[in-house]
Amino acid sequence: MLHCSQLKVVYREDDHNLLAVDGINLQLEAGRVLALVGESGSGKSTLARALAGLSPANARVSGQLQFRQQDLTRLTEEQWNTLRWSQIALVAQNGAAALNPSHRIADQVAEPLIVHRGMAKSPAQKQAASALAEMGLDPVLAGRYPHELSGGQIQRALLAMALILDPPVLILDEPTASLDPGTRNFIIELIVRLCARGKAILLITHDLDTCRRLADEVAVLYLGQIMEQLPADHLFTDPCHPYTLALARSYPTLDGGRELGGIRGDAFYRITHAHDEAGFDHTHIVTADNDDAGHAPRQGCLFAPRCTQAQLPCRSGEIAMIRRNTHRVRCRRGGIAPLLELHQVGKRYG
Ligand code: ATP
Ligand code: MG
Repeated sequence: MLHCSQLKVVYREDDHNLLAVDGINLQLEAGRVLALVGESGSGKSTLARALAGLSPANARVSGQLQFRQQDLTRLTEEQWNTLRWSQIALVAQNGAAALNPSHRIADQVAEPLIVHRGMAKSPAQKQAASALAEMGLDPVLAGRYPHELSGGQIQRALLAMALILDPPVLILDEPTASLDPGTRNFIIELIVRLCARGKAILLITHDLDTCRRLADEVAVLYLGQIMEQLPADHLFTDPCHPYTLALARSYPTLDGGRELGGIRGDAFYRITHAHDEAGFDHTHIVTADNDDAGHAPRQGCLFAPRCTQAQLPCRSGEIAMIRRNTHRVRCRRGGIAPLLELHQVGKRYG
């Protein structure tokens, strides 16, 4: 349905460029949920915005992006406006900011109907009100302004707006974050229903349990690169990449079933210095890592400085994605490292 390959997003700043999404290949398919996980700052929202043609002005997007048979790479803003909402809808992470503070909720939810379907205001508002009711929002709230709604109510309004034109592709950026359990469950059940109706869904979440319950596959992002793509039910039981293992381990459970361990160190972005006219020079990638005091040229696996299993070969050359059964993994050691580590942990705990 929606397919990207070698997708890159560079943010241009005054004195440097930041490579926030670094050569992503993904495929969203009808009736399937692909979850995107990774630490804060790994580039999830940057990727989500690029897929929906909503990158900010200082972002430069390159690579291939295709919706059905249509090449989206060179769409004009006007062409994107036709496609967005009707074919690809994004529910952004900073929900309230996505709404216009000076317009009533029902008017904003009705807007795609007026703009895309040419509907008159009154029937569009009626349809918007019933869409809001379907999302469990009290009709009284439809006449309110965004600042008069709670976080959960805003999230429901945004979902109503994203679904009003029944788009086949949905990108949901942390739709259940900071919500009460009732709203969270409502959204989880909604995603299940939407998936059953054949929507292609990209679900960005920090909640690995939700991800395991809802997703078919999980893509694990680290500093803008996918480290592993694996079936969701393998996330806690059979991760191949040491980063996936570390991420799964750092996720707490109520029953205390898993060992709670953080990932040592911090993730730092690579900063690409602007040399050419366009401000792009991917050949000169530097980083400020735990390993390298200051800025030093960087090669090898991006996770190596924090990886408990890294060896010398992990620190040089380009690490390609390899296939390991149903997983795709970017690891010089072919994804055997977690097995070794599990073995060592096993020995430690008898
Ligand atoms: P979180 O889990 O906290 O939402 P994320 O994975 O969504 O994080 P992004 O918001 O995509 O991360 O940010 C990726 C990197 O790009 C970060 O280093 C961030 O500071 C940077 N970034 C994001 N937006 C911009 C922007 N408009 N201009 C410059 N840099 C940006
Ligand atoms: Mg984000």
